[in-house]
Amino acid sequence: MHIFENITDTKEHILELKNKGMSIGFVPTMGALHPGHISLIRQAHKENDIVAASIFVNPIQFNNQEDLKKYPRTPEKDFYMLESAGCDIVFYPTAVEMYPEKVNVVYDFGILDKVMEGKFRPGHFNGVAIVVKKLFDITLPDKAYFGEKDFQQLAIIKALVKKENIPVAIVPCPTIRESDGLAMSSRNERLNEEERAIAPVIYNTLLEIREKIKKEPIPEILSWATEKINNQPGMTVEYIEIVNSDTLLPVRVFDTNIPTRACLAAFLGQVRLIDNLGLDMN
Ligand code: AMP
Repeated sequence: MHIFENITDTKEHILELKNKGMSIGFVPTMGALHPGHISLIRQAHKENDIVAASIFVNPIQFNNQEDLKKYPRTPEKDFYMLESAGCDIVFYPTAVEMYPEKVNVVYDFGILDKVMEGKFRPGHFNGVAIVVKKLFDITLPDKAYFGEKDFQQLAIIKALVKKENIPVAIVPCPTIRESDGLAMSSRNERLNEEERAIAPVIYNTLLEIREKIKKEPIPEILSWATEKINNQPGMTVEYIEIVNSDTLLPVRVFDTNIPTRACLAAFLGQVRLIDNLGLDMN
């Protein structure tokens, strides 16, 4: 496995492989890898000749500097996990390599970056779009893999690719969970023992929403879910929404024929957790 810190070397290496007719599957990450990330690597390995991953904690997508500072960094362990899963190339740049000067690009994603995460993390998706565009320019992927765990991010990336005419297929990958249902996340490591025991309530609530939506009105379900989570010690809901999976606009009345998703964000102590679940197809 090749590890590159420099943009030019990475691009040269990838161009050489592409000129030999090899396809590139790309998995962008912020490191502190867990089996959720590795599932993306394995999927990319199945569908491409070469798998490239990036590890970069992107400063411009953090609107909370404390969160950026506390973000876990475990590069040696990450390299080992990537190599074991069949990754061929890791791009591991510094912030100066990625942003030698201030970036002023402002994307317009319409409603997609204004709702849910966008409402509570202003500028976050603009930072994500800037870094992903840059990473695509460097790694020139045929296919790029993103987790449904970050459902709104996936919608933003699809919109970015369309807007910028980037010739890459975006492949959504299912959320990988702990055995008790908690969605795997690098942030889970920051939960203490009590918080970790409570955390599965998020997924359980989403599962219950999926049952309730068949028979109860949406506003009632949302109040019930908010109360259920807020009643847990140390837990506060930031948002719970039931949205159209394509437009991310709130759904007022459930229709099994329209792709629908329940999305939620909640603080558990100091740790902000997000999760989502498709409601329509089951
Ligand atoms: P991150 O390192 O958090 O930026 O995540 C990198 C990629 O891994 C993103 O596409 C995430 O959606 C994806 N990812 C993170 N956690 C999971 C999970 N539990 N299951 C599947 N994909 C995930």
